[in-house]
Amino acid sequence: QIEIRGLHKAFGDLEVLRGIDITVARGEVVCVIGPSGSGKSTLLRCVNLLEEPTSGTVSVAGTEVTDPDVDIDRVRRRIGMVFQSFNLFPHLTVLENLTLAQRRVLRRGKAEAGRVARANLERVGLADKASAYPAQLSGGQQQRVAIARALSMDPELMLFDEPTSALDPELVGDVLAVMRSLAQEGMTMLVVTHEMSFAREVADRVVFMDGGVIVEEGPAARVVGDPQHERTRTFLARVL
Ligand code: ATP
Ligand code: MG
Repeated sequence: QIEIRGLHKAFGDLEVLRGIDITVARGEVVCVIGPSGSGKSTLLRCVNLLEEPTSGTVSVAGTEVTDPDVDIDRVRRRIGMVFQSFNLFPHLTVLENLTLAQRRVLRRGKAEAGRVARANLERVGLADKASAYPAQLSGGQQQRVAIARALSMDPELMLFDEPTSALDPELVGDVLAVMRSLAQEGMTMLVVTHEMSFAREVADRVVFMDGGVIVEEGPAARVVGDPQHERTRTFLARVL
């Protein structure tokens, strides 16, 4: 589903990604962990071309997105992205937040977009919040709306960049539960997270990045439970 090969990204003289290879098969959940500044967000942003890679290739569902001739908008439509900040439109209701891109980008009619939106609100446990405004919701609810909004575009895969790190601790669990059920439904997911219990329980594989390279990767139980590299151990000792 996602194939990243020899990915390099530099900002001027700063080499942020220095040869990353990751494959995420259909239905797989891969968690990326690593210290601040190691290039995790840049990696995700290269997958949906919010950043242009310096070299290397990224393929999504068989389309090489780094091909200069590719229609970037078409590629992005297949990829759902959820960030640390929820980025909901404050002046629109929850339902309107969920139908806007469906109508504008996918050209769905009002009734169909509404139906899809309500189904996805149900999926994240917020069926009763359709007419609320974002400011009336908790951070965890807002993040679940952001997930429902991404799902309403029928993505083939989902990218998550620290979706729970801006939340109060008591709100984290609800968001992780939604992500967990998505994983169980077979969604392909690439997730940057500091939630080691989530990584351990949900991820098929965990990738530990440091300094723009992959230091270690493998089954979650091994990378998180029995890391082989000193740098991984040092990192885990700080976050666990
Ligand atoms: P965090 O855990 O803090 O989110 P991260 O692993 O996501 O960190 P990135 O955000 O990918 O790290 O940033 C990696 C490095 O790239 C940092 O040194 C950052 O300052 C730099 N960087 C990121 N985006 C840009 C940019 N647009 N221009 C210049 N430098 C950038
Ligand atoms: Mg980041």
